[in-house]
Amino acid sequence: MENFLSENETSERATLPQKRARTAASDSDVQERLRAIVGAEHVLTEPERVEPYAQDAVKEKFPPEVVLFPRITKEISEILRLANERRFPVTARGGGVGYTGGAVPVEGGVVIGTDRMNEIKEINVADLYVVTEPGVVTYALQQAVEKHKLFFPPDPSSYKQSFIGGNIAENAGGIRSAKYGVTKHYVLGLEVVLPSGEIIRTGGVTSKNVVGFDLTGLICGSEGMLGIITEATLRLLPLPEATRTVRATFRTMEEACLCVPRFAQRSLVPVAIEVMDKHAIEAIENEFAFGISKNAGALLLVAVDGAPEEVERASLIVEEVMRAGGGFDVLRAVTPADEDRLWDVRRALSPAIKKYGTLKFNEDVVVPRSRVPELIRRAEEIGRRNETFVVNFGHAGDGNIHVNFMCDREDAEAVKRARKSVGEIFAAAVELGGTISGEHGIGYTKAPYLDMALGAATIDLMKKIKRALDPNNILNPGKMFV
Ligand SMILES: Cc1cc2nc3c(=O)[nH]c(=O)nc-3n(C[C@H](O)[C@H](O)[C@H](O)COP(=O)(O)OP(=O)(O)OC[C@H]3O[C@@H](n4cnc5c(N)ncnc54)[C@H](O)[C@@H]3O)c2cc1C
Repeated sequence: MENFLSENETSERATLPQKRARTAASDSDVQERLRAIVGAEHVLTEPERVEPYAQDAVKEKFPPEVVLFPRITKEISEILRLANERRFPVTARGGGVGYTGGAVPVEGGVVIGTDRMNEIKEINVADLYVVTEPGVVTYALQQAVEKHKLFFPPDPSSYKQSFIGGNIAENAGGIRSAKYGVTKHYVLGLEVVLPSGEIIRTGGVTSKNVVGFDLTGLICGSEGMLGIITEATLRLLPLPEATRTVRATFRTMEEACLCVPRFAQRSLVPVAIEVMDKHAIEAIENEFAFGISKNAGALLLVAVDGAPEEVERASLIVEEVMRAGGGFDVLRAVTPADEDRLWDVRRALSPAIKKYGTLKFNEDVVVPRSRVPELIRRAEEIGRRNETFVVNFGHAGDGNIHVNFMCDREDAEAVKRARKSVGEIFAAAVELGGTISGEHGIGYTKAPYLDMALGAATIDLMKKIKRALDPNNILNPGKMFV
């Protein structure tokens, strides 16, 4: 699957000055010991060399004091033992394209880059799994297993930059989640270095395993706060033989979204159901002139996959459902080139909406999919009331919508209004039975909103788990909890 968002797309949330911390990681004797653990050539301390590790896609800078590139699990274990002894923070980093500041060392200390832990250790065709190190780029892993006609479905749009370790830590989703679910559904087992430095293994290679607490599930989505993943065993599926896409426009978002349950009523589970609102359509038309009708208030892109005869049949049903639901200008791909052209509008989206503002608050709220039209209405109302331009698009198949509040980064009042809009859309998502993040996680950017989504007792339990595993608060401090 193609990279649907441009490489340089970021939330560009803030332009605050750099925040430079000083901890024991800057002490010369500690740095000497770190060099002894990973080798001097794999240690960065000079300000200009640690700088690239100060930020992720949020673009707010918190420079680390030291960046380390270990190769093996034992080295990570030794780093964490030293961190506990000398009490300096440690933050794991994958591809560094997170949207909530997860990999950014907000309290300074050491960043562990997993770039050198990039070996795919085993692809098991008979038992349908792959064993991999955390630093493998998601796309590279997909390509490697596809050579064996196998399929790793999780596909965050950042898949050409993000690492498997980062995907597991964030429990990343993507366009194919409507049918295939998210990363955690493919994690069979893990090797993890706990904050204490102890090394544990969870799960195994079998798809069934109910021995003990589900620690694999606990680590998935723990945002690098409970342990550092050093190896993952991932479930694979047979590679679908074909995919087929149908695109249609509708007068309203409501009409477009009403098609979603109708696919299920026709016994169809499309692999992707992507929707975009009228502002998104206007933006891509103004920028790229695809020839989408001026009467379009919404656009739906639906893909089905499977055996060739099955995708042919399924795509005809998709077309039928869309037409019956008020869809017009319905286009059904026949060749791979058609397929590509239909998805071009989705790829054009991110560059196109940039013209609506120099600062974009890209929030990934999620609601039950039947409530998506109501969520969009609320987003528009919030935007109107706060005089903030809003563009909505996303994964209608699983109710995960990217609500983008746009403003001018130099206009302090406009930024304030956009931030207010963010809080309000989070409240709306929760009120509609959903939550504040479907994909991007909490990190530090959404930490102030955590209690909107979770009760006090739940947050307290999470803090107890964190304290039990990491009593010295060594691993990725300053995240999730304010
Ligand atoms: C253009 C763009 C498109 C995106 N599209 C999507 C999308 O479609 N779906 C989606 O879900 N997200 C998306 N994201 C967000 C982001 O790419 C995902 O959260 C991704 O999983 C981050 O992976 P990473 O390797 O860059 O992790 P990083 O940003 O490096 O780290 C993320 C978190 O994981 C932790 N971590 C990293 N490696 C490890 C490890 N080995 N062990 C333990 N913890 C670790 C870090 O400490 C941090 O807390 C997008 C981002 C961008 C910029």
